[in-house]
Amino acid sequence: MILRKKIEIEGIVQGVGFRPFVYTMARQWEINGFVLNDSRGVVVEAEGPLEALAGFLFAIRSNIPPLASISRFDLTDLAPTGLNGFEIRQSDLSVATVAQVAPDSYVCDDCLAELFNPKDRRYRYPFINCTHCGPRYSIITGIPYDRPKTSMSDFLMCPACQAEYDDPASRRFHAQPNACPDCGPVLSLTTSQGEMVKVDDPVSAAIELLRTGKIVAIKGLGGYHLAVDAQNDAAVQKLRRRKQRDEKPFALMSYTIDQVVEYARTEAWEVPLLAAPERPIVLLPKKIGCAIAPSVAPRNRLFGVMLPSTPLHFLLLKDSFLALVMTSGNVSDEPMLFEDDEAITRLGSIADYFLIHNRRIHIRTDDSIARFMAGKTVLLRRSRGYVPRPLFLQEELPTILATGAELKSTVCLTQGDRAFLSQHIGDLQNSEVFDSFKRTISHLQEVLEITPKIVAHDLHPDFYSTRYAEQLGEVETVAVQHHHAHLASCLADNGFAGKEAIGIIFDGLGYGDDGRIWGGEFLVGGFDGFKRYGHFSNIPMPGGDAAVKEPIRMALSYLIRVYKENLPRLALFDKISPDDLALYRQMIEKKINSPLTSSCGRLFDGVAVMLGLRDTVSFEGQAAMELEQIADLEEEGCYSFNLWKDEGGFVLGYPALISAIVDDIVAKERAPIISARFHNTMAEVALSATRLIWNLTGLETVALSGGVFQNRLLLEKTVYLLESDGFTVLTHARVPPNDGGIALGQALIAAHQVAKRG
Ligand code: ZN
Ligand code: ZN
Ligand code: FE
Repeated sequence: MILRKKIEIEGIVQGVGFRPFVYTMARQWEINGFVLNDSRGVVVEAEGPLEALAGFLFAIRSNIPPLASISRFDLTDLAPTGLNGFEIRQSDLSVATVAQVAPDSYVCDDCLAELFNPKDRRYRYPFINCTHCGPRYSIITGIPYDRPKTSMSDFLMCPACQAEYDDPASRRFHAQPNACPDCGPVLSLTTSQGEMVKVDDPVSAAIELLRTGKIVAIKGLGGYHLAVDAQNDAAVQKLRRRKQRDEKPFALMSYTIDQVVEYARTEAWEVPLLAAPERPIVLLPKKIGCAIAPSVAPRNRLFGVMLPSTPLHFLLLKDSFLALVMTSGNVSDEPMLFEDDEAITRLGSIADYFLIHNRRIHIRTDDSIARFMAGKTVLLRRSRGYVPRPLFLQEELPTILATGAELKSTVCLTQGDRAFLSQHIGDLQNSEVFDSFKRTISHLQEVLEITPKIVAHDLHPDFYSTRYAEQLGEVETVAVQHHHAHLASCLADNGFAGKEAIGIIFDGLGYGDDGRIWGGEFLVGGFDGFKRYGHFSNIPMPGGDAAVKEPIRMALSYLIRVYKENLPRLALFDKISPDDLALYRQMIEKKINSPLTSSCGRLFDGVAVMLGLRDTVSFEGQAAMELEQIADLEEEGCYSFNLWKDEGGFVLGYPALISAIVDDIVAKERAPIISARFHNTMAEVALSATRLIWNLTGLETVALSGGVFQNRLLLEKTVYLLESDGFTVLTHARVPPNDGGIALGQALIAAHQVAKRG
């Protein structure tokens, strides 16, 4: 019996070799018909005997190309036509496309084999790619995804490349970035001033320079990196000095997993994560006494490690280095540079040489960062390799732009049941980052063809993202409370379809409904709204933002709250002059420039200072991170704490907790023990608050969100306690628990708000 089926496929199915794949499968199964790209994805008509058709359908659904992903696969019966042959038909380009743009990808195995095959015409060609791999998002200037709308439009394909491009059986059929040494982009080496250095092979020359301790700025997929030999401590220190970056860890890149395990410990599930096509930076524990220079990640138990993501990186690392430092090519807090002229001007004082090429990067995408926690991969920064892949929602939304928060800015666009979270943008207080924010919004709107009707923003009136949203005009705006957005983001990440859940939000700072600064929050809510059932006790932040950079001020605030005039004898008071102490005390007691906060992150900071870990930080969350890292994982002790009820709900009080910590310090208990006990206590706080709320609401699902939950020890202890108690626990995975995930939550809440307004 002969049947004919129409197959409509949606998802990431364009520009990823899907049509040639269908074509090959059709020939294998002797199916007649055609395949074409349409506005929503790929359409196939397939005709053949029942068994062959079943085999074909199974094949095109299950063995899809590496960069493809299917979100819809619909079948309709048609009358057989009796026509023979299978063809790839010309797409109807007059139809506006909503098909998805693929993320940038690493090099596929086939291209890698060619890259190192001396007989291949692309032997050692740094821009080798095919429909299964290569640049996508970062080179697209518009849609449909076609060569003229990418930065490859600068290069005319040679006859050999054109033949591959036109051959349905080729891996390079309609591979838009297709190129070879005869027709494609080329590398060059320049001095720090941008003057060309004449060399036969820029890659070998760069390797030699790196070997002698030079800093080389390297143009990658989404922007520039600064590279040095990770085993050369003097070179790494020189990079720190020139980049004015004191302590923040540098990322590493190695050629193989075998090299990575020479200096970092990997657990079974981290290996596939390192090797995934997205090639994120993965946080891994250091091996003590390893060969990596100490200044790569000072005072840190972890390394951020990635495997090569472009052919150029493969060429640089093969048989040359155990690891290269590959840190974002930027000046202090500015965004990663991606345009050649600007990179040379701005990085000229840091890099000794530049390894550049003439394929333009259209939009900056930083490296992604992942950590394995509580049994799953958690993206701490969702960027290169993941963006602009959509997150699928449980419902259809109107077109919305959510402008996110401020410190770890990302934005989100929604259309139908898809949410597109942007790449990491950075701290909007920096004007260059703010420009990048605006550029990212317009680029995403263009390549996704989404014109938002609703704009969601943070409740904080002074965030740049809020001001941007307010000046747009012609759109409906919705202000969303920061921690409500964290909760909604976690629910959406988990595909939660219920009405509401308990939200335990352990965060840094966010603007509250009452105009105060929140951050340790016990909420109940969903996309429709939320109620605050409790929070950490409010405490003054002497000097406001200054207390974030100088957590010693927070330590004083907690101690003065608990001990008043009779401060305990702690080492930290040796580091502070009597005048300063008197000044801070006055600020705190008289409420001068000392906004109140219920932040959980600030409590972690304060405790870190009490333990003598540090008094000031060079990046947000540093003190809390070090507190996590020193914790003794065997210790199971816990401090007592008070959770009392007042008109604001359940309030976590500090006297019992802080005095227990101080007693331990005075009794000369080891800092790792105290840190572990403090972490255990915070997990118990989450459990107690959850139980209290369950008593009142009967809700059994708990979402854990907020930047403090990037802390693996805290997250795992909390999940363990809650699950042991019978609660269903939702944690982040694809969307960061920090402010990089806020925009997704904002979008969902705004959609529901607007629907309610009617
Ligand atoms: Zn390839
Ligand atoms: Zn060519
Ligand atoms: Fe936050």
